[in-house]
Amino acid sequence: MTDPVFKRLAILGIGLIGSSIARAAAETGAAETIALWDRDADVRAEATELGLGQVAASGQEAVRGADCVILCVPVGALGEVTGAVASALAPGAILTDVGSVKTAAAAAMAAAAPDGVFVIPGHPIAGTEASGPAAGFATLFTGAWHILTPPPDSADTAGSAEALAALSGFWTRLGARVETMDAERHDRVLAITSHLPHLIAFNIVATAYDMERVDEQDVVKYSAGGFRDFTRIAASDPTMWRDVFLANKDAVLETLGRFSEDLAALQRAIRWGDGDALFQEFTRARRIRKAIIDAGMDSAEVNFGRDKPPPT
Ligand code: NAP
Repeated sequence: MTDPVFKRLAILGIGLIGSSIARAAAETGAAETIALWDRDADVRAEATELGLGQVAASGQEAVRGADCVILCVPVGALGEVTGAVASALAPGAILTDVGSVKTAAAAAMAAAAPDGVFVIPGHPIAGTEASGPAAGFATLFTGAWHILTPPPDSADTAGSAEALAALSGFWTRLGARVETMDAERHDRVLAITSHLPHLIAFNIVATAYDMERVDEQDVVKYSAGGFRDFTRIAASDPTMWRDVFLANKDAVLETLGRFSEDLAALQRAIRWGDGDALFQEFTRARRIRKAIIDAGMDSAEVNFGRDKPPPT
């Protein structure tokens, strides 16, 4: 096996993403030692039972001597968790995260991290709607993008290029495709590709649920595949998503404004019986789906390759 990228990797927060990193790092030999910590004692016990690594009794104990620390907690908790371990971080250590919003993550970690630590925010574009240490799996990052957003002012700092190369090498070893971009661009892109779709899913599921109660319609019982797919997305962790919308407020509101205008245009086309407009829009959408499949970002199989039809 090739040499480990890091001698001691510390993972704080043993949920879906943290436990998946631990599994992938162990399987690929990307870290010699894997130390983990979670604020919840039951989760720490579960992680020990699952054999995810050396489970520490405190965050400080986990990060002591680590050359890389990955924060796998909701975006709103990044500042607090960084502050709690700051005095135990080794000079020259890399501090990164997996949060879904990067401008806020960078600011929170940079404000709380001590000098001499390389803060390099990151975001794996991989996940599921499940939470907790049992939900993780080693292949989660295989073939997925991992976006790193190193602060622009770090480029001139001695050692920062080496730190960025080491972190890129780590994620590449886990099977990810690494891309570097500025945090603002990340947040604008993810607002439309991830954050808005989640907001729509949360909203449509809530609307359908309310309709069922008010009109006594069996919306949920007779939901076809389309609605079922929204319910999967809407089952995602509420804390994580609350933090995403609070932290990426501007980009999400801008994107939501554009979306509302486009939705109003479709509404008008339906009202006035403008079939051509509807057909054109749906044809364009279908082309985008094809481009996603051609880029290898999703399965070409009908109904995502599910073998069972939606239950009736
Ligand atoms: P998860 O399975 O719910 O795990 C979240 C972890 O954060 C748990 O260990 C939780 O502790 C801990 N935590 C929550 N609030 C905390 C606080 N205030 N202080 C300290 N620890 C706290 O969630 P996840 O999916 O792994 O998400 C973790 C991060 O990954 C989030 O920042 C999210 O934006 C990002 N992310 C998620 C996905 C996805 O699809 N799920 C994809 C890419 C990136 P407890 O054990 O006490 O609950």
